[in-house]
This record gives sequence, C-alpha cells and structure tokens, in this order.
Amino acid sequence: MQELYKEQLQLFLNRIKQRSQNFIGYPASVDYDYKELFPFLDYSLNNVGDPFVESNCDMDSKKFEREVLNFFADQFHAPKNNWWGYVTNGGSEGNLYALYLARELYPNGMVYYSESTHYSVQKNIHLLNMDSIVIRTDYKGEMDYDDLKEMIQLQRHRPVIILANIGTTMTEAKDNVPLIKDILKRLAIKSSYIHCDAALAGTYLSLLGQGSFDFSYGADSIAISGHKFIGSPIPCGVVLVKKSYKDRIGRSIPYIGTLDTTISGSRNGITPLFLWYTIQKLGRQGLLERAENCLTVADYALQLLEEAGINAWRNENALTVVFPQPNEHICKKWQLASENEMSHLICMPGVTKSHIDAFVNDLVQQQDEKCPDLESQLN
Ligand SMILES: *Cc1c(COP(=O)(O)O)cnc(C)c1O
Repeated sequence: MQELYKEQLQLFLNRIKQRSQNFIGYPASVDYDYKELFPFLDYSLNNVGDPFVESNCDMDSKKFEREVLNFFADQFHAPKNNWWGYVTNGGSEGNLYALYLARELYPNGMVYYSESTHYSVQKNIHLLNMDSIVIRTDYKGEMDYDDLKEMIQLQRHRPVIILANIGTTMTEAKDNVPLIKDILKRLAIKSSYIHCDAALAGTYLSLLGQGSFDFSYGADSIAISGHKFIGSPIPCGVVLVKKSYKDRIGRSIPYIGTLDTTISGSRNGITPLFLWYTIQKLGRQGLLERAENCLTVADYALQLLEEAGINAWRNENALTVVFPQPNEHICKKWQLASENEMSHLICMPGVTKSHIDAFVNDLVQQQDEKCPDLESQLN
C-alpha cells in the first residue's frame, strides 16, 4: 500500500518536471525558489477577514499581506490614505470583488467590456446579476472606442461601469484608460466607475513605467494575478480599490473578531508570504531587470519567428507573441492556448532564449513537413 502512493507521487512529479520544460503558452513565472518558506507550510496560516483589521486568530500573515498591498499601492499610484485591498485567490476574484463594489455603488449601472475580455468577467457579471454590453475590438484585441461611445450614448441615463483590459488574455492588448475617461467626459456622464483588469500585464508595466491605466489615470480599482509575473506555486492575486468606496461593504463579525470585507471567508496565509518574499528578495530594481529581460526574450522570439517566415506579431510592450495556430502536436507539446486559429507564447520570467530556439525549430520542422503531407493527401 505504502509503496503504491509513493510511486504515484513520483510518477506525477516526473511528469510535472518534464512538462514544465515546455511551458511557454500560459502566463506563469517559473523562475522562483521558495524553499526558504517551506517551514511555514507546517502551520495553518489563515488571513480570515480584512487584512487591515487583526482578528481573534493569530495564525495569520496579515502584516506581510499589508506590505505586499503597500508595494502595489505605490506601483499603481493609489491615492494616499484612500486605498484598500487584499491578496486574492487570483485575478478572477479581484475582478469579481471590483465588480461587486461597482454594483454596490451603482446598482443601476451598465457594465461595458470588450469582446477580448477574460472569461471570468462574463461569469462575474452573471453572478452579480448586472447588465452589460460587449464592445467590439480591433484585430489586435484593443477596445473599439467609437463603438464604446455609441453604446454609452444609447444608455446615457445609466451609470457607466467600464472594465478595461490591461493586457488581454490572447494578445495582451491594452485598453486606453485616458481615452475612455475622455469619452465619459464628452458625453457628460455623471456617474462612472473604471476597473482595470491588469491580471496579466499590470505588474510589469508598472515596473517599466509603461501604460496609462493606474489610479493616477482614473482607475477606481485594479486587479492583478500574483502567480503570473511575480510567480507563486499557489494561484493568488491582488485587488486594490479606493477606500472611500469600499467602506460601503463589509460587516463586523464577532465570531472572527474582524471585518468581513473580502469575497472568501478563510483566506490563504501563505501566498502573501510568497509575494512578499519575491518583492523583498528582488526589490524594485531586481523586478524591473526581470521585466526588461522578459521584453528582450519577447523581442527575440518575434525576430526569430519572422526570420523563419512565420506571420507573427505582438502588441506594444507585450510579452505575448501571436502567430498562426501550429499543428496539434506542437500545441500539445508546448501547451499553447489557441483561439480563432491564432496561438501565442508568453515570455514570462523563466522562459529563455533556448526555449524559443527549440520552439521555433519545431515550428520550422512542421512547415517543412507540411508540403509532403499535403502532396500525399492530394495524390
Ligand atoms: C489571467 C487573467 C485573468 C484571471 O486571473 P486568474 O489569476 O487566473 O484568476 C483575468 N484577466 C486576464 C486579462 C488574465 O490574463
């Protein structure tokens, strides 16, 4: 009996190790080493409730969570003394929390989001029973602002809730928050709320000083994924909102002795520690260099694909490189996500030039093989 479970674990470990070598299609950093934190896994850390309100239970890492939140509040230029947030289970929960907040503020609001938006948003809107309109995008995945303007105009009497993408899932397109603000102003919209889904690109764009999407540009809330650029073996994320809004949500719960301001009750106590550790260990400078290195790899990937005669492209400052969907074998081997006959690779920390070399090599071989294949089919 005992032998069997050990064998199963070993098989699983071998498989994961092997698959992690060809992991370029999904946005998760793989260059971390959290072994120093392993002793904490012997404890049931739980950050139940509000990170800024201590609870009856001392087995939490809220102090570290608050430092992580502070780091991101700085990065995203959150209004001094008027922000709040927490470490979530991922970008999807951050989007859910932000939309929940927007709905509490504007129960009659209409949500506008582009057709390139992450699938979590549609589900969240459904869960919250909100009304919404899907806005067209251009071929690169960015919102069509004329369409947005037209749609808002038709609903001028209703508060506007915008879900802006700061890096869409497929092509890493960024919606232009200042332009959206401008449209709202020109249409004299009285009540509006802008949430930035920055799950993918928010962290590195802020490090690179790129992108005009943060609180200083008019965002009311921002969500990111922690396991993407920062990296974490357990999915996590951060959501930040303006505190004056958030004070409308949350009740005091005597049982836990803190405020129930978050979506889930018990909350992960180890993921804030992972995020904190990377932020401390690398510092802003180290994180910036890591982001620059990713951009270099993305430049390299695009160049190599172009040289191989593959019709590849990428959005500005994107770590995502888009190209026509390769054959099934390659998609499986490299764990590529595909949509509308388009696939992408994402140069997250841990993806190296030698990964790119091997991948492009596979693609080129596929191209060479395609012709005889086709010929034999035709004959
Ligand atoms: C990854 C991603 C999400 C969802 O984040 P999870 O951490 O997987 O929940 C939402 N939006 C965008 C644009 C993403 O890339």
